[in-house]
Amino acid sequence: MTATNVPNLAGMSRENLRSLFAKLGEKPFRAEQVMKWIHQRGVLDFDTMTDISKDLRERLKQTTEIRLPTILEDYVSDDGSHKWIVKVASGSKVEMVFIPEAGRGTLCVSSQAGCSLDCSFCATGKQGFDSNLSSAEIIGQLWWANQKLGAFEAGIERPVSNVVMMGMGEPLLNFDNVMEAVNLMMDDCAYGLSKRKVTISTSGVVPAIDRMKDFTDASIAISLHAPNDELRSQLVPINKKYPISELFRSVRAYMASLPDKRVPVIEYTLIAGINDHRQHARDLAVLLEDFPCKINLIPFNPFSLSDYRRPSGSSVTNFRQILQKAGYTVTVRTTRADDIGAACGQLVGEVTDQTRRSERRKNAASRAKGQADGTGKAFESTDNLAVTADRL
Ligand code: SAH
Ligand code: SF4
Repeated sequence: MTATNVPNLAGMSRENLRSLFAKLGEKPFRAEQVMKWIHQRGVLDFDTMTDISKDLRERLKQTTEIRLPTILEDYVSDDGSHKWIVKVASGSKVEMVFIPEAGRGTLCVSSQAGCSLDCSFCATGKQGFDSNLSSAEIIGQLWWANQKLGAFEAGIERPVSNVVMMGMGEPLLNFDNVMEAVNLMMDDCAYGLSKRKVTISTSGVVPAIDRMKDFTDASIAISLHAPNDELRSQLVPINKKYPISELFRSVRAYMASLPDKRVPVIEYTLIAGINDHRQHARDLAVLLEDFPCKINLIPFNPFSLSDYRRPSGSSVTNFRQILQKAGYTVTVRTTRADDIGAACGQLVGEVTDQTRRSERRKNAASRAKGQADGTGKAFESTDNLAVTADRL
């Protein structure tokens, strides 16, 4: 749908909606009524909002809109996961994924079409940056998941209990829109999700992490992927600007600002022969010694044009055991929904790559390989991934 200039109520936080109603000369509680219609009952049509006067409904129709992104395709995996292709205002397509598990359902949400950060192992990064999603396009993914899963029907338990900003894009490079959408996810007049169950995943945009405490108290996951700056800078180029020590300083400050006791999740994508040696695990254990956290290992999910390989089952197990013996809580993310291309890092949507990333990426891959080979560690090869199934 084409963007217009009138306020889009679908993506507005309670605070912003209240001031909009104040400007219209209306009582601020109208904001809560409208939020409930949209986010709890799935209603997008002003005429159905019967507890709002006819006169106000007419004014809202004339001066505002309720606009969500469009769902183009709906895939269901053999394991019950869903992937939806979402068309956003720029014309690009992004993806969102729903993963049902015993006792919870996790929605993996996109924040940008493409990504400018070019991490060497990520299919989204390879596309380059296309556009930021609006807050309505971000919260719209949760709205659509509820709609598609039948959750707006009365008496149905909400299937989405957790949201992770781990789809396409770097959430903290779309700061304002992500904050507004994330706060709506946690608002009792909207989806009412627990702040422990809404997680912003970042590759480490330090100035934005520093600002977060003034805008939200959502949980945070840090995409670390390496135990030292040299290797991390090759895998996650933003590390050259914001090295690990600065990243940890800002995350510590954010955690300290939260009203309850929580720890960040450290995400570590294991890539065969690059960052999955025993020594990397030992170095990681030392690096994280004074940094309270949980560790989530993600075996690399291959995609076309990437030379990286998924690590063997035994190398994942060894890595996990070294960290566990050092006293860390470690989970290994099971690959879900790869039959529909919805595993971590396989989300590509559709944007135009105008940045010659494939070439630069190949060079980065050979540099990273060169360094990993230097450690002289051979890795075992078995396809039997004996891992603990868990997600955030
Ligand atoms: N930009 C944010 C969030 C999106 S990426 C971030 O980087 O944290 C979400 C997670 O998927 C990150 O931890 C990322 O490192 C991981 N990921 C990306 N590509 C992957 C791949 N090919 N295999 C496994 N995990 C991948
Ligand atoms: Fe962007 Fe995250 Fe992919 Fe890096 S891993 S390119 S930050 S989406």
